Formats: sequence, C-alpha cells, structure tokens
Amino acid sequence: MGRLNPRTVTILGATGSVGRSTLDLIERNAERYEVLALTARKDVSGLAAAATRVRARRAVISDESLYGALKERLDGSGIEVAAGQDAVIEAAASGADWTMAAIVGCAGLKAVMAALERGATVALANKEALVSAGALMVEAARASGATLLPVDSEHNAIFQCFDRARPGAVRRIILTASGGPFRCMPIEAMRSVTPAQAVAHPNWSMGAKISVDSATLMNKGLELIEAYHLFPLEPDGFEVVVHPQSVIHSLVEYVDGSVLAQLGAPDMRIPIAYTLAYPERMETPCERLDLVRIRALDFEAPDLERFPALGLAHDALRAGGAKPAILNAANEVAVASFLDSGIAFLDIASVARETLGRYDPPAPASLDEVLEVDREARDIASQVIGKMLN
Ligand code: NAD
Ligand code: MG
Repeated sequence: MGRLNPRTVTILGATGSVGRSTLDLIERNAERYEVLALTARKDVSGLAAAATRVRARRAVISDESLYGALKERLDGSGIEVAAGQDAVIEAAASGADWTMAAIVGCAGLKAVMAALERGATVALANKEALVSAGALMVEAARASGATLLPVDSEHNAIFQCFDRARPGAVRRIILTASGGPFRCMPIEAMRSVTPAQAVAHPNWSMGAKISVDSATLMNKGLELIEAYHLFPLEPDGFEVVVHPQSVIHSLVEYVDGSVLAQLGAPDMRIPIAYTLAYPERMETPCERLDLVRIRALDFEAPDLERFPALGLAHDALRAGGAKPAILNAANEVAVASFLDSGIAFLDIASVARETLGRYDPPAPASLDEVLEVDREARDIASQVIGKMLN
C-alpha cells in the first residue's frame, strides 16, 4: 500500500462474524496494521485470544461484570483491559486511522457516533445505526470530515459503482437480495419454521440477528433505509431484486441506460478488504468468481405477501421521521423473541407493523431523542409480543 507506518485500527464487535473476518484480513497483513482496541460484549475468551494474536493495545468488554475474567485472561500480556459501555465508546473515539463498526443492533449507535465525531475513517457494518439515526450520523461525518465507508456488501457494491462526482447522473439503485432460506417456501410452511432453519442462510455465514433479518427480508428493508442515507436519491429511487446466487452485490443505473454492478464471491472479506485498503486495493484469500461454472444468474421480484417486512421498511423510509427507528427497535425485540422460541417467524413483521401503528412521535432531532424513541418502541413491541404469547 506504499505506507511506511502501519495504519492504526480499532474493531468494535471484534468477536462477531464481521469482526472475525476483519481480524482474519489484519492477521494476514500484520505488518501493515497496528491494533489500538478490540471490543466485545461478553465473549471473554474470544476477545482475549484475538487481542493476544494481533497484539492489541487494549481489549474492552462491554459487560462490566466480566472485567475480572478478562483481566485474568490477559494478565501479564501487557494488553490494557477495560469494561463497560463508556469504555466501548472511548475505544470508538480512540483516534484510530480506521475503525470497524461491527456491533449488532442499536446497541452500537453511540459508539458509531463517537467514531464518526472523532473523524478519520469509519467502516460501517452496523446498519442499524444508519437506519435509526442516519441523518444524524451522516451529518456528524460531514462535520468532522470523517470518511464513512459502507461494509454491507450491497452498499459497498453501490459505493464502488456510484459516480460521486456526478450524483445527478444516477437514475436508480438496485439492491440485490438472496431471498434467504425461505425464498421458495409456501406461506403455510413459513408459519412453523424454527430459529435453526431461519439462521441457516444459503449463501452467507453471518450472526444470528442478521440471518433472521435475511430470512424475513427485513434485512433488505433495513438496507433500503441504509442506502438512502449513503447515496443521494429519493426513496423511490431504490429498488430490490431477488438474485438467489448472491454474485451481483448491487447495481447502479445511470440516466443514459448504463448499469454498473459489482460482482464477487459471497465472502464478507471482500467488502471489508475494500474498506481496509481504501483507496488502495489489497489481496484477499477469497474464492475467485468462476463465471463459466456459475453459468447463469437468476432474478425475480420480491414477494411482498410472504415477506411483508420489506414493504414495511419501504413505507418507513418514505414516511421518514421516527418511523425507521421504530421499525428497527420493534424488529430487534421481535427477532430476539423469535430466537428465544417466543413468537412465530411470521409474527416478526406483525410486531413491527403493530408497533409502527401504535407509536407516532415527532422526528428525533438528536441522538438522545433517537435513543428515547428506541426505548419507547421496544416497550411497545414487548407489550405487543406479550399479548401474542398469551
Ligand atoms: P454478530 O452477532 O456475529 O457479532 C456482533 C458483535 O457485536 C459481537 O462482537 C458482540 O460481542 C458485539 N455486541 C453485541 N451486542 C453488543 C452490545 N450490546 N454492546 C457491545 N457490543 C455488542 O453480528 P455480525 O453478523 O457480525 O453483524 C454485525 C453488524 O454487521 C450487524 O449490524 C449486521 O447487520 C452487519 N452486517 C453483517 C454481515 C455479516 O456477514 N455478518 C453482513 C453485512 C452487515
Ligand atoms: Mg447486506
């Protein structure tokens, strides 16, 4: 990359799926990166092992009760140990050249904001932060001069194809969706699918929450809202096409009819590597695309009857204000209940719809107001679930 000094990096959510893929790339290029901080929620052994391997300066566990356990694991290693939400936020603002935001859910919001306010480069996987507080996040990045690089494969694809010098020349953005594990399943069978079936994604290996979101297509809905904050088009300029092979990661259509797409194997290390080396490119060990072996690429329209979450998200995007934050909060609570053998799979979207219908606060104007909307929406979603389970 032509740099003499290693680039300093911090990974928020280092023990998760995206965090581990990021660590894999860093370990393969150890001389180029110096790890300032790694954070995790409660996986003490995963965090300690990773921090030791990459010789991180600091390891942070957000669950304060685990401070002693982490301290003991890293005793004598020279790695600083910290615990608690504030320590995670401090790590986010640690001044790294590059910060990976890979905490799942609205829990990552304050840390993402701290990283963006600090400036430098933020690789954003934590899509919920843009869904709930997109306008505030983008404004914080603008104000600090931070470079916000999308990690989500679709948005990373769009970022690579979007002519940022001529945004007016773009007519439409098409996000591809794999369709998830239930793409061809009749609705009767979808009523009784189990958490294990829902997290078994056909193409991508991911954390449990995003895997369920992919199965309901809520993930694609959240991604529509995420895309809206990253790329300057009207809400109706974004479309979703189901593409079961997950080879084309998204497309940008220009006014002249040209369509640019980014393709690659479905391996998150490719978009992560793009953000890690940006604006250069780096080698990855990822599988190369073999078009002859793939032979054909398929496309179909999403089925909004079996996957109503996608329609709810598009409506929330058009409505704006607090609606996307409410949608996200209700979905997080509903997915947690489903994973915990509470509500049924098809009830996830129903919880989101009912919560959106019951709660209509004014648009939040600050991060604290977003967090207030998030809390209230979680309470309402929990009540809706309580009724369903009775
Ligand atoms: P994961 O569940 O595998 O990992 C989540 C990470 O966040 C873990 O390190 C965990 O310790 C940490 N964490 C969880 N709750 C926390 C809390 N309350 N406070 C502090 N840390 C907490 O999730 P993932 O699949 O890696 O996804 C991470 C984010 O990236 C999500 O927002 C997801 O939507 C997005 N994303 C993931 C993928 C993927 O392939 N996994 C692809 C695109 C986008
Ligand atoms: Mg995605």
